[in-house]
Amino acid sequence: MEARKYYAEVILKHKISVNLASRVKNLPPYLFAAIDRMKQETRAKGVDLIDLSIGDPDIPTPGHIVEAMKIAVGKPEHHRYPSYEGMLSYREAVAGWYKRRFNATIDPATEALSLIGSKEGIGHIPLAFVEAGDTVLVPSPGYPVYPVSVVFAGGKSHIMPLREVNGFLPDFKAIPEETLRHTKLMFINYPNNPTSAIAPKSFYEEVICLAAKYNIIVCHDAAYSEIYFDDEKPLSFMQVDGAKDVGIEFHSLSKTYNMTGWRIGFAVGNRSVIAGLGKIKSNLDSGVFQAIQEASVTALNTDERILSGIRKTYQDRRDALYDGLRGIGIEAAQPKASFYLWAKVPKQFDSSGFVAHILEKAGILTTPGNGFGAPGEGYVRFALTAPVERIKEAVERLRKAF
Ligand SMILES: *Cc1c(COP(=O)(O)O)cnc(C)c1O
Repeated sequence: MEARKYYAEVILKHKISVNLASRVKNLPPYLFAAIDRMKQETRAKGVDLIDLSIGDPDIPTPGHIVEAMKIAVGKPEHHRYPSYEGMLSYREAVAGWYKRRFNATIDPATEALSLIGSKEGIGHIPLAFVEAGDTVLVPSPGYPVYPVSVVFAGGKSHIMPLREVNGFLPDFKAIPEETLRHTKLMFINYPNNPTSAIAPKSFYEEVICLAAKYNIIVCHDAAYSEIYFDDEKPLSFMQVDGAKDVGIEFHSLSKTYNMTGWRIGFAVGNRSVIAGLGKIKSNLDSGVFQAIQEASVTALNTDERILSGIRKTYQDRRDALYDGLRGIGIEAAQPKASFYLWAKVPKQFDSSGFVAHILEKAGILTTPGNGFGAPGEGYVRFALTAPVERIKEAVERLRKAF
């Protein structure tokens, strides 16, 4: 009885306070959480919202992949823990896809790793290679996960601004020599989110030279390599001589096959870098559900006609939005790839002001450019994730909102 009384006294007297670690406390609010809130508030007011904010395909996963999953999920051997690095059959399908699409050779046994979506691999890679205080080169505007992953590893981001005058490629000559000497890793991403820019071969060659000279691990995020227009196929980093000596490429089934909810991706390239990432992962997660991997083998062998159909859908949307915006005097570069359109906001607004204005006056939700980093100020990102009729309707509403 004494013990019980003591217990009651202790829990009464000491109230636990929950304190976030500074690495979490100091994070900017996750961009899309704020956007989600705006979306819910607007819908609650009964507005017929046109949502062009988040890069999540509105088109379902192709039927043959869903059917493959239905069969795979019934197999008891898939109900157990998967292997950490992914099934060999999945990694072989990845290598086969690289050979067909890019004519690049990947050894499935040592140069490919399954990921629980590429976001997972991007978020974890600095943990394998970045020491406290090391520098990581991060493009901005850019995918918010890059700088956050650096914070989690105790590193420092050096921001590489992506400017229109440079075709939204980083200007490496602007990085101080001293910074390069302390740099461990660099993130790059083409086709680019959010600017929709693509990179020429000469850019990747420049990256490889810089990385070789300063011993920098290159992490190229190629999530949008299959969403391209006018038959101009984006390159893989792995197609360029010397890439495998300096880095890896992240890829995802999310955008190519409309599989964002499935959570599967992969990394390929330098075997020591792949092994380092694999070591982190084997201590944190237990791989991807094997039924998803088996269905993904089917996905990676998808008939080219289905993929051209998906591209055609995005191209029609791009044309409707790009032509429409130009018609009302909003400036933008015509996207060559990805499903984003990166437009200049009219002079009287800043990014957030413009997003708020068109939400209120036109019921259109977009993402403010500065949400992807300070160099994105003055821009807005439209995602082509609504049907053509809705995009045309959005342009009509915008015309009336000015
Ligand atoms: C969508 C996206 C990813 C992540 O995709 P996953 O679903 O995690 O595979 C990675 N990088 C960029 C730039 C993206 O836009």
